[in-house]
Amino acid sequence: MIDSIKIIQPDDWHVHFREGEMLSVITKYSSRVNKRCIAMPNTSTPITTSIEAVNYKKLIEDNSDNDNFEALIPCYLTDTLNIADFEYALQNNIFIGGKLYPNNATTNSQFGVNNIKEIYNIFEILEKYNKTLLIHGELNRSDIDIFDREKYFIDEELQQIRKSFKDLKIVLEHVSSDYGVDFVKTNNNIAGTITPHHMLLTKKDVFKDDVVNPHHYCMPVVKNENDLLSLRKAACFNNSKFFLGTDSAPHHVDYKKQNDSLKAGIFSSSNSIELYALIFEEENALENLEVFSSINGPKFYDMDVNKNYLTLNKEDRIIPEYIEEGNIKIKNFYANKNINWKASHLHV
Ligand SMILES: [Zn+2]
Repeated sequence: MIDSIKIIQPDDWHVHFREGEMLSVITKYSSRVNKRCIAMPNTSTPITTSIEAVNYKKLIEDNSDNDNFEALIPCYLTDTLNIADFEYALQNNIFIGGKLYPNNATTNSQFGVNNIKEIYNIFEILEKYNKTLLIHGELNRSDIDIFDREKYFIDEELQQIRKSFKDLKIVLEHVSSDYGVDFVKTNNNIAGTITPHHMLLTKKDVFKDDVVNPHHYCMPVVKNENDLLSLRKAACFNNSKFFLGTDSAPHHVDYKKQNDSLKAGIFSSSNSIELYALIFEEENALENLEVFSSINGPKFYDMDVNKNYLTLNKEDRIIPEYIEEGNIKIKNFYANKNINWKASHLHV
């Protein structure tokens, strides 16, 4: 039995650090194991300018418990961006790229774009500077079933974007369906991030009879068994087009469900790499964890692979239900369940 693995230090290409006290409590969980994290710009006032990006990056890095930790910031794309500032920020690596949130697809996406064609000029700029377009790929329309939003987005928007901007690098974030996996695999210049929860949950874990589990509710919502299996296969079997992105997205436990409205988001940073290790081990693919967690991502973003290493040891333990600090109380993903890995230390 393998009781220890050593991997190149991972990066997490999709994290929500939030703001205020929440940010100061949760940042250490991501900087615990990762060298770099993409910090999603859907804060209560979205990050749309170079100054906001510089300040947000500094705020996160100042709150990390690791001196080498780096927060990478994409611009929240809107149809009212200051184009000169956007170009300046791309040229100076202040923005790693641009994040497209279709209107009202998830938390704080009410500032997102209604008509994607109206920001095609922004895609042109990203393409020109070889910067990445990160996409929350869901079409949110009243006639579309919640489980089909990814498929409709691909068919009605992404196909067109792909055709119009052939050299634009695209990341389909938190791929959640077999349909999405297939699109990423069969198109050029596109990669996908995959979360632990989309490889551990199906819709039965969210919707049971007439009860909804708010702690398993996220966007895109988890889907069927065949989608879960397809995502596991894509992550575990060395496909260079998929890499680590937890989409860890905490909400205070008291606000997760309020007035019958559910807040989407699952918090997994506290056990992120361990959850991936558990999944890769179940798939007999532990030897492929490193390429998914630490190599495919930087390659796609044209960045260097990290120099340090992380050791994970076999250690049976139970994930505690909550993280509680000051006024913050967050439910851990996979709470009260057994996990058999523990990240031990970073080393050269
Ligand atoms: Zn997200």
